[in-house]
Amino acid sequence: MPEIITAKVPIGVSACVYRCPVRYNGKSFDAVSMLGREGQDFAFTPVCPECMAGLGVPRMPIHLSGPGQDVLAGTARVKDRRGHDVTEALVAGSRACLDALERAGVRAMIVKEASPSCGVFKARVGRKRNEQIEGAGVFGAMLLDTGWFLIPDSALANPLLWWDWRRRLHAWLWLSDREIARSKDIYDAWHVLKFIVQETDRPLADRIGRELAALPTNAPQALLDAMRDDILGALRKPSTRPRIKQAMWKTYVHAKKSGTLSGIDLHDLTVNSPEVSENLMQLVKELTVLERVSFENDLLFGTSPVIRRDGRRVAAREKESPPDASAT
Ligand code: SF4
Repeated sequence: MPEIITAKVPIGVSACVYRCPVRYNGKSFDAVSMLGREGQDFAFTPVCPECMAGLGVPRMPIHLSGPGQDVLAGTARVKDRRGHDVTEALVAGSRACLDALERAGVRAMIVKEASPSCGVFKARVGRKRNEQIEGAGVFGAMLLDTGWFLIPDSALANPLLWWDWRRRLHAWLWLSDREIARSKDIYDAWHVLKFIVQETDRPLADRIGRELAALPTNAPQALLDAMRDDILGALRKPSTRPRIKQAMWKTYVHAKKSGTLSGIDLHDLTVNSPEVSENLMQLVKELTVLERVSFENDLLFGTSPVIRRDGRRVAAREKESPPDASAT
């Protein structure tokens, strides 16, 4: 059976990609409208560390003399175009945003990439447009310390990219919330999540498989926690279109062969082999249909093993076919 999340997911978002006109030039981006109705699955908390720093809109762009981690360590500074030092203000603004996100129960955030404040995976450090470094901005460095699930705004630019980030986010939240107190708990969690990890990080999946095979019945908590952290880390890694397609096809063929899909209405599903070229929208459509079919038929679709459904729909489905109905 797929694992189901029913609660709305609290998620932070850089305010400027949530259509708030808070950029230095008073403009904004719109990364979230492509979510359409799916946006209702989330409770968004938009934050802007530069606004909370009191820098105002419009304002002069800022630049860093080193990565955000160095700014927090006191070895790099933040200045505006006129050379005014705004380091303390930006650190304070970033802390205020982090406090607000914690109050909102956030553990995942959509960040504006390349920003000297919000950037996580790359940040513009110098004054020139092309001076980007691998590293985080000031607020981004704080976010990295939290251990949250961080999503670049570019993930929302393409439906397949977003599908991949969303399914990994749901899997990550599910594992983060799960009690892992005994060896059996980590075995069970691995059984649900291994297909994604095999897809995103095969060497790690093989290592975890070996470690699980050697795990004593009463493994120490520290070892269980380390294994959980490894899996959570693997769930943060993006997949690729060919890998997603291959995994979807393998899961589908396996389900067909084992007979678990027999007698099930597959609607307009075509699921081609990985060699057949398929446009991106068709691929996303087929993945979404497989998620729905697995939910409606209590099947584990390994490519997307944790899905979010509205609590009322889950309750209606359970009423329709109670879990023990098939036991008779
Ligand atoms: S990138 Fe971050 S600091 Fe910059 S405008 Fe957007 S929300 Fe504000």
